Amino acid sequence: MINEGIERPKIFQRGSIEIICGPMFSGKTEELLRRLRRAQIARLKVEIFKPTIDIRYDASAVVSHDLNSIQSTPVENASSILLLGSTTQVVGIDEAQFFDDELPNVCESLANKGVRVIVAGLDMDYTGKPFGPIPKLMAIAEFVTKITAVCVRCGVPASRSYRLTENETTILLGEKGSYEPRCRVCFNLDR
Ligand code: ADP
Ligand code: MG
Ligand code: ZN
Repeated sequence: MINEGIERPKIFQRGSIEIICGPMFSGKTEELLRRLRRAQIARLKVEIFKPTIDIRYDASAVVSHDLNSIQSTPVENASSILLLGSTTQVVGIDEAQFFDDELPNVCESLANKGVRVIVAGLDMDYTGKPFGPIPKLMAIAEFVTKITAVCVRCGVPASRSYRLTENETTILLGEKGSYEPRCRVCFNLDR
């Protein structure tokens, strides 16, 4: 055996960036929470951040549509994420599309320091355009997971979030009823 008599090396965590993206209801928050729970099981120190703008269900918990949740810290801007505890090994960021353009730099500098950064967010806004800092994050990430919801019109995988209301501002939080996941064909139907 090659390793005979040699002490096992200390486990050293390399930093990395993982993106979980897709439309509303695709299970981004579920998948983020699944990965973070597994990190907790591995006894890694986990912290979760979300933008203060996302106060849909709870001011300080990351909550998925099926109401699984883990406590999180709401922050005003991306740079505030850098104020995390010095022993934190895994950082989760939910609703990342609402953060400012500093977010890719923030994630990069955390990953360079050895932190595993897991980011969940919408890849497209309701017009089908790339959303906020997500496209840049997808470019610099080691791992990109793009997931789909179920198209509410025809049942095939849905890649897009269709807005049901007339409101023209891009930031309209995703309460049930104001958006529905749709495939490309159904997304283009009523536009
Ligand atoms: P996201 O964070 O991507 O908006 P969540 O993780 O909060 O999604 O919620 C995903 C859950 O939403 C699914 O597991 C499912 O139970 C539920 N859901 C409701 N409508 C749909 C749909 N049209 N397609 C897929 N999942 C849906
Ligand atoms: Mg979510
Ligand atoms: Zn469809």
